[in-house]
Amino acid sequence: MKKILILFFLCCCIQQDYYLQENYFQQEVNTTIDVSLNDKKHELSAFETIEYFNHSNAGLDSILFHLWPNAYKNINTALAKHDLENGEVDFRFSASNEKGFIDSLDFRSSNQQLNWTFYKNHIDIAVVYLKKTLLPGEKITITTPFKVKIPLGIFSRLGHIGDSYQITQWFPKPAVYDKDGWHPLPYLSQGEFYSEFGTYDVKITLPENYVLGATGDLVNGENELKFLMTKVNQTKQLMANPDSIKDGLTFPKSSKKTKTLHFHQENVHDFAWFADKRYHVLKGEVELPYSKRKVDTWAMFTNNEFDLWQNAIEYINAATYNYSLWVGEYPYNHVTAVDGSISAGGGMEYPNITVIGESYNDYSHDLVITHEVGHNWFYGILGSNERENAWMDEGINSFFENRHMESRYPLKNSTNNTLLNSLNLNGKSMMQLGYQFNASRNNDQPIQMGANKYSSMNYGVIVYGKTGIGFNYLKEYLGDSIFDSAMKMYYQNWKFKHPQPKDLEKIFNNSSTENLSWFFDDFIKSTKKIDYKIQHVSRKNATTYHIKLKNKTGFPAPIAVTGINNKDSTITFSKWITGFKKDTLFTIKTKEELSNFQLNYNNISTDINTSNNFSRTKGLFKKVAPIKLKLLAGIENPSNTNIYFSPLLGWNNYDRLMPGIAVYNSLILEKKLEWGIHPMYSTSNKSLVGTGSINYQLYPEKLFSRVSIGYSLNTFFHQPVVANDRWMRNELFAHFKFKSKNIRTSAAQSIQIKTIRIDENIFSGNFTYPLESFPQTSYFNVIEYQLKNKQFLTPKGVNIKYIQGFRQDQALVSSLQLTANYRINYNKKLNGFELRFFGGYNFFSSSSRYNFLMRGQDGYNDYLYERTYLGRNTGFPNMLFQQSSNSHGAFKINTAIGRPEKWLIATNLKLEIPKVPIGLFSDLGVFPNYEVFYNPSTGSTEESKTIEPMLNAGFYFSIKANNKAFLSVYFPLLYSQNIKTSAVYSAVNSIKDLDFLQKITFVIALDNINPRNLIKDFGP
Ligand SMILES: [Zn+2]
Repeated sequence: MKKILILFFLCCCIQQDYYLQENYFQQEVNTTIDVSLNDKKHELSAFETIEYFNHSNAGLDSILFHLWPNAYKNINTALAKHDLENGEVDFRFSASNEKGFIDSLDFRSSNQQLNWTFYKNHIDIAVVYLKKTLLPGEKITITTPFKVKIPLGIFSRLGHIGDSYQITQWFPKPAVYDKDGWHPLPYLSQGEFYSEFGTYDVKITLPENYVLGATGDLVNGENELKFLMTKVNQTKQLMANPDSIKDGLTFPKSSKKTKTLHFHQENVHDFAWFADKRYHVLKGEVELPYSKRKVDTWAMFTNNEFDLWQNAIEYINAATYNYSLWVGEYPYNHVTAVDGSISAGGGMEYPNITVIGESYNDYSHDLVITHEVGHNWFYGILGSNERENAWMDEGINSFFENRHMESRYPLKNSTNNTLLNSLNLNGKSMMQLGYQFNASRNNDQPIQMGANKYSSMNYGVIVYGKTGIGFNYLKEYLGDSIFDSAMKMYYQNWKFKHPQPKDLEKIFNNSSTENLSWFFDDFIKSTKKIDYKIQHVSRKNATTYHIKLKNKTGFPAPIAVTGINNKDSTITFSKWITGFKKDTLFTIKTKEELSNFQLNYNNISTDINTSNNFSRTKGLFKKVAPIKLKLLAGIENPSNTNIYFSPLLGWNNYDRLMPGIAVYNSLILEKKLEWGIHPMYSTSNKSLVGTGSINYQLYPEKLFSRVSIGYSLNTFFHQPVVANDRWMRNELFAHFKFKSKNIRTSAAQSIQIKTIRIDENIFSGNFTYPLESFPQTSYFNVIEYQLKNKQFLTPKGVNIKYIQGFRQDQALVSSLQLTANYRINYNKKLNGFELRFFGGYNFFSSSSRYNFLMRGQDGYNDYLYERTYLGRNTGFPNMLFQQSSNSHGAFKINTAIGRPEKWLIATNLKLEIPKVPIGLFSDLGVFPNYEVFYNPSTGSTEESKTIEPMLNAGFYFSIKANNKAFLSVYFPLLYSQNIKTSAVYSAVNSIKDLDFLQKITFVIALDNINPRNLIKDFGP
């Protein structure tokens, strides 16, 4: 091992610049800063000097500087807008003293003031104009004082919480100038950095009792080192005697005396520091694998997760060692991890130093530390453009992080651990699950794309997840030695430089004889899906098999074929098949007889459909993998045909309690063919009720991102128990989801076409009921268009729906409806103000059942049987009749008036009150009222037509899940006279004036807690 490596390093020396781009250059920026912290005002005062070397062959008239603390200055910055698109509302609703900025700038060169302006409306980028052109090969020294008002540390990286400081992206810093010109990047949370390498020399002045972690080596730091070692001893004493730990997180008073710490580091592209008076300190060291050089490791942490941090040094050491082993040796003198209780969860990387959020358990603490330490390589040393090619740092780093974690926690991947196995909780399968979740719905985005263009979920599941899976895929395909030597070559050639995707590709192509365009073109640059199928397996004799594979998508990625022997469930055969576009036929000779073949057995590729990856070598139904029943949900694998189940319990007025079971073939991943049945037992009718559906999905390239066609069946009882009548609803549907131009900001649009057959009063018993109790069949056609925007603070939508119905040859209804919704969320808890408009016009209505209803459709008026009602034909005074829906006029009052045949217009307002599940509502509507009356003066009947207004207002109470109400109860307090005097017809023909309790309505929206819908909502 060692020998090979020495040889390998020799090769690298010879080829040092072989892989550099033609005419590659990079600028050099050396930065000197003197800064002091004012921890009363949470301010920095500093003086900065930069030396800028122009190594390009163009003259520069100006230099672009990032002024990133200004990203926190107001709600119009790129950061503020981008975070809001991601649904982050803290900054949007922050107070002005919580925001931050940089000011007091005075750029000078040779003591001459330089003019500067903001770059294109970005207040966090400056253009500094030089007095004379900086020619190729020349250098310029620029100085500026600056002050930073440190923002609250809950928005994005830079910040303070009390006296805990996270000082990052804090000084004026030149943007990168490379062969493509300037790279001015407004600061964003999603999409990181691109910076010039150079030397940093930073002096920090702050009260003496702060513990400080920073980029770079301490210069003349004997006193500080003594101070830190005292902290180390105290920390060790606490660890030995954990009862003595006070679990407080209060800040000790700042010393009156200050200290100035001096840090120096060459070959880095950023400088960050973290200061906290509460930090405990641990120190260790790690010996690097090849040079045996020793690197100091430090952990600095508060009481917050004291127990977890006791092991931090070991995590830092292990990560530093393995990354050095697999990629290249750590070139600096220390690796430090600090506790940033500032940022909840996750962590953030800077050269030499990383900040770790709350981790909750040892495993994830190790994982986050490893990930952030790993960024010293993929970000720190290999300085790719993270805004443009985030996969080159986050993705490749996730791959190594996962490789490292698998080497440390083999149990998590052990096939012996049934619990972990059934949950599939290891890192790789979590990445698979995330990727497949979005890819199976065609909601994924390519790996190669600007970081700011991803939906926030795709930023995780594609940039980190799919890239992480991809590099493991590449490693498994090429073999460890080719893969590792290519990575080491990449490191040797590109350390302290700015590699581009092409540079990495070139190294892999030269390291391997395989054609890797499937990886660097299709896998990285497209959203093409992999789906191979075992077409057939024929058995020549006990040890010879012909196998035909088919490529269902045409993406020619390599695929692993595995042969399994059922007797002892051992893998007796495994082979990579080079990618092909259509199909391939090959013969396999094995040592022993095999029971079955499987594709992608170890879940290494991103094959999107596991159901066609299995075939037995003989027998009937060869391609159906053994059926496995699983509770709730799980991840797919080719060895089984998974069927999921979960218990159900329902209730309505006619079936009473309905125990049942849901059986379905998918939940987390979307499958091309999905089915689900939910049989339930009606305890009152002693009969089977329930629902079922089957649908098939297509993912066209153009116009629509997804087309779903399907069939559903629902049947329950709908008359009082004695009548023993049921309804049945058969629906054929097609749902078209339009492709959106911009997954982050474009409105979501869809069209739905349905044909519905409704059977009512079927299986009628002997009892004859006075209302329409004869069996009848009605048909309806529905076409519906829906548009929903994605603005987080002001969600709005429009729905247009046309319904046409008939029974035998008789028309029932022809109706057009428009509903518009507008909402303004006015605080960070997303309490809001909601406005709804409804306009409906009936071209024809055969009976009052098909008329519009001012109070919103009740169970009887829901003639399409679209919603869940506890009672449908209950009639008044049964309380269930007070169930309403947010449809038609949506008046929140139980009233009989407002049931026009022709048209109805209504608006509804809702105002949520912060902190309580209570709100105010008001409804306003109009409808035409026709009255036929006898006119004694003319002696004839006459018709009068009036436009009748209705008004209603009150308060409501609602229970929300996932920020959507699933139960709301409305209490009307003020309403117009026509409502006051109106009555409700009961099932037994009596009319009653309603008291306050009887005017209350309630709305149940079960869709808002249906796991299937919740999962659907989860995507972009
Ligand atoms: Zn990362």
